[in-house]
Amino acid sequence: MDLLNMTGQLEEAERQRLREISQVAQREVRRQSIGYWNREEFPAELIGKLAELGLGGLQLEDSSHLLRGLIHAELARADISTSSVVGIHNELVLGMIHELGSEQQRARWQDKLAGFEAFGAFALTEPEHGSDIAGGIGATAHRGGDEYVINGAKRWIGMGTLSDFALVWAKDEETAQIGAYLVESDRPGYSATKIENKIGLRGMQNADIRLENVRIPVANKLPGATSFAAANQLLMQSRAWVGWQAAGAMMATLDICKAYATQRQQFGKPLAAFQLIQQPLAEIAGNLGACLSMMCEIARKQERGKLRMEDAAMAKSTATRLARESAALGRAMLGGNGVVSDFEMAKVFCDVEILHTYEGTYEINSLIVGRALTGVSAFV
Ligand SMILES: Cc1cc2nc3c(=O)[nH]c(=O)nc-3n(C[C@H](O)[C@H](O)[C@H](O)COP(=O)(O)OP(=O)(O)OC[C@H]3O[C@@H](n4cnc5c(N)ncnc54)[C@H](O)[C@@H]3O)c2cc1C
Repeated sequence: MDLLNMTGQLEEAERQRLREISQVAQREVRRQSIGYWNREEFPAELIGKLAELGLGGLQLEDSSHLLRGLIHAELARADISTSSVVGIHNELVLGMIHELGSEQQRARWQDKLAGFEAFGAFALTEPEHGSDIAGGIGATAHRGGDEYVINGAKRWIGMGTLSDFALVWAKDEETAQIGAYLVESDRPGYSATKIENKIGLRGMQNADIRLENVRIPVANKLPGATSFAAANQLLMQSRAWVGWQAAGAMMATLDICKAYATQRQQFGKPLAAFQLIQQPLAEIAGNLGACLSMMCEIARKQERGKLRMEDAAMAKSTATRLARESAALGRAMLGGNGVVSDFEMAKVFCDVEILHTYEGTYEINSLIVGRALTGVSAFV
């Protein structure tokens, strides 16, 4: 079911590409991801399949925002952890190096990243500063001759234990300027510890990173990242991406629930024959339809370079709220089987909790919308 004929808005070649990616994701990622999720293991083999489809360099493609959004949704439909790896890699690592990096940094990393031969991490959040990180960056950079010395701690950093480098946001000790520094993970003083026992996105590895007198050449500073506003611009775009992830989570919910409701029999009939099963199915489809319409408009705004902070914040907060609501309906529809990851719904149910929280929590994104509506900021 192509709700609202979204794919009809794509050119034929883009439609074809989306179909191919969707088929590979369903055939080679969806079921395979459950084991990785259960074991909290990075799905390296699955990422390898996506490399063959060119998804390591999605961000640099000359394709429409709608196509890229729908690709992210299709990946999330198959597995939200895998889609997070691909999304952060493109939106916040490759995109950041491309837009804010130097010629030298681009020459060294872009092609490798685009082929998934190298990985980076986006290191902004800290143990003591999450929602208030804009005014609270504690990591520091100290210039001494041709080097910077980086100190500090970062928390929740996706791919932190596996990446070749981290893009570390830190404050220059002399100028108090916020900047980003490319810190290779094999430099002395860099250490990353996996955060264990997450309830969602279990295939995506997150890390606590410590930086103790890590020396990097001056050339590792990203020339385009000269204030927190640069981070905000990146986060604005990546919030739109999370909106697409939420759409994918609702597609998955609908897929799983429709299949279950038609196969599972109770009282001598398939569940699908009961009105109280059809109603939540219709609600999930409605939530998905509303989300897709909104995301389509967001893609149009991105195409015109007109996306605003409040648009992205509204898309992210609304889409993740609807995904969470839909996943709760779906989880209940599967009864006892809805709490076992093998039946997939429990996995989606847990993963949407992360969508609700990362890239700015639901509450903070709501406050960005509230600020735009009222002209009054309730959070700074
Ligand atoms: C799985 C996962 C992956 C992540 N990946 C990355 C990554 O790759 N790189 C990175 O830099 N970060 C990453 N993050 C961090 C993420 O962006 C933060 O968790 C998020 O910004 C919230 O920060 P916090 O967890 O410190 O919560 P806090 O800021 O401590 O918030 C706690 C609660 O208080 C609420 N709150 C805070 N301030 C206000 C306020 N003024 N008004 C109302 N409510 C408020 C929040 O909404 C939340 O409900 C990731 C997080 C997770 C869980």
